[in-house]
Amino acid sequence: MADPAAPGPVAAELAAIRERWSKVAYVGLRPEVVPEPGHQPEWLPDVPRLLAAVEAVLAMHKPTGIVGEVQLCDRHASYVYPVSPAVVADRRECPGCHVVERPRCWHGSCPDEWPCPDYAAISAALLGKDGTDE
Ligand SMILES: [Zn+2]
Ligand SMILES: [Zn+2]
Repeated sequence: MADPAAPGPVAAELAAIRERWSKVAYVGLRPEVVPEPGHQPEWLPDVPRLLAAVEAVLAMHKPTGIVGEVQLCDRHASYVYPVSPAVVADRRECPGCHVVERPRCWHGSCPDEWPCPDYAAISAALLGKDGTDE
């Protein structure tokens, strides 16, 4: 399984869109570029705004943390959630704990899964797939 925290195909596609957009001459956004007459599409300034809107949503829907802990030892079972990264690492090494780890969405309202439905919907719309693999 790919590292869910690594920049995925969705982020790569958004970066590619931004790169393509940045190459387009538009006098209102890039004053140093003088477009040819009639080559200033009305929608062009919408592109960065739409990118920013998507990125704002994605900033809230990103993989983080772990879920699926099972069979914690007495000591670790006594910790109050959420636990610190140090405790997570300690628990991973603990011979008394049997921990199953998988990522979940950072957004508190999302289900304990990754990709979450929101990310999957954006990925499907952008890439035509759920974004879990290449
Ligand atoms: Zn989410
Ligand atoms: Zn333990």
